Amino acid sequence: MTKRVFNFYAGPATLPLPALKKAQKELIDFKGTGMSLMEISHRSKEYAAVHSEASNLVRNLMKIPDEYNILWLQGGASTQFYMVPLNLKIDNKPFEYVNTGIWSKKAIKEANFYGEVKVVASSEDENFSYIPKNIKFNDDTAFAHITGNNTIYGTEFHDWPKAPSEIPLASDMSSHIMDKVVDVKNFGVIYAGAQKNIGPAGVTLVIVREDLLDRVSENTPTMQKWKTHAEKDSLFNTGPCWAIYMCKLSLEHLKSIGGVPAIEKINKEKAKMLYDTFDSSDGFYKGHAKKDSRSLMNVTFNLKTPELEEKCIKEANEKGLIGLKGHRSVGGMRASIYNAMPVEGVKTLVEFLKEFKEKNE
Ligand code: PMP
Repeated sequence: MTKRVFNFYAGPATLPLPALKKAQKELIDFKGTGMSLMEISHRSKEYAAVHSEASNLVRNLMKIPDEYNILWLQGGASTQFYMVPLNLKIDNKPFEYVNTGIWSKKAIKEANFYGEVKVVASSEDENFSYIPKNIKFNDDTAFAHITGNNTIYGTEFHDWPKAPSEIPLASDMSSHIMDKVVDVKNFGVIYAGAQKNIGPAGVTLVIVREDLLDRVSENTPTMQKWKTHAEKDSLFNTGPCWAIYMCKLSLEHLKSIGGVPAIEKINKEKAKMLYDTFDSSDGFYKGHAKKDSRSLMNVTFNLKTPELEEKCIKEANEKGLIGLKGHRSVGGMRASIYNAMPVEGVKTLVEFLKEFKEKNE
């Protein structure tokens, strides 16, 4: 028997076991071709089928309307931090961003290379422990930008801010894409590095409304235009075939268990188990995020001292509960409970945390 642990890393992160098993089975001889998918031309009919199935799964699972393009790009979500302003800028118009933590700040830094950035709301005053309310974007902005889920602080948008109808809203959904039902029509652009909730590292999913593709100036480098990739169905150049294949397998699994509405229900149950544990711990465990901003995906918490946290992480490790250390910039602990984390994993963690509390109170 292969040993599998419960892996709470924030990303790359745990993948559905059936997807890994299928990949293992097909690794050396992909569907009778006598080749691994890694060895097959990206122009072959075998790869073409994988590619279109992956895109179809994304479209069906997220109920993406026809007027949106689905792109599979390289360079990580960090590359989209500059591709968003580069592709959406309009001369003399500012861009409006919400600052909910380090990933928002990184996006803002890149946007500054292309125009004036206005930060219309921020939760920096309380160490990014909440999602600002009543966010207002203005009519004279080129586009608006939010980070849908803040991986480091464990906060998540549960209601989407409304941008004026002419203003496209872009969201970085790297750490929560498909964690719950989302009406894609709220957005002009959605982007997400795959390595947390839908697949392995190496590919970034970009969902962009068709009419926005023509905004980009003609003298933009070819690879930096979404339009280039949209026109060639993300096959302008050699794409990350293997990563896309793994996304396909992981999304097939998601479909088989009932799709996004089913996983949303499970995600809410999983997150509740952990948050209830904190809330009933008499302050032994203290969640970082304010209650109304709690993330379904990244559950961040602190113990009384860094020493106790270290002990907790070490003992959890020994029990096969891996990756619970908080991000280096905030410390504490973090359990990333993405779609592929089984309920059993969260139950085991909760039992462990309760026992740890009893022994260390
Ligand atoms: N945005 C968010 C919300 C993230 O959590 C991360 C990675 N942790 C990134 C962007 C950066 O993604 P990448 O490493 O794919 O560039």
